[in-house]
Amino acid sequence: MTEAVLPHLRGLASWMEEQAARVLEVGSTCALGGDAAWDGLLHELGITPLSADERRKHIAEGPKRSRGASPIEVRWAINAVYERARTALRPMDFRAETTEENDLVRKIEQRLYSIVDDVTREHIKRVSPPAPTTSSIFANARATTPSYGGGVKSGLNQMKCTACGAPRKTEDPNIGPCVYCGGTLA
Ligand SMILES: [Zn+2]
Repeated sequence: MTEAVLPHLRGLASWMEEQAARVLEVGSTCALGGDAAWDGLLHELGITPLSADERRKHIAEGPKRSRGASPIEVRWAINAVYERARTALRPMDFRAETTEENDLVRKIEQRLYSIVDDVTREHIKRVSPPAPTTSSIFANARATTPSYGGGVKSGLNQMKCTACGAPRKTEDPNIGPCVYCGGTLA
């Protein structure tokens, strides 16, 4: 008699959600650019953080935020969770027999499909300063203009990251993912 796979699937589903919640919690409450708690989590997930110089650059040039880890490090962190969960799911999927087991496999697959983008976007939402109200935009347009210290060259096609809003900074026609959060430029 083979061991039921259902408890393992349930364990995987809760592990995945716990890790996603942890990445969000630690990532969005840590000091701007990261701190010991965030570095500890990255280390645990086997991720090499940005260098101190790169972190400073991301703070200066990336999307404006009041605290928290760099969105690209958050993407790497949740991607590590995704990879582990996907690897663990494969043999369980093979062993799933009952309707309940197969339904849970599908549910986990659906969550995995969007977990990296979902968590990265939620992180950006949590660490972004509150959006200015219409009246404050008119009252003080200059002060509320987002600042991207890197200086986007004028005349460039103004493409922006759909996830963090950072403008694209290259004239390279091969548009890769956003350097600050890994989101799609459009
Ligand atoms: Zn971005």
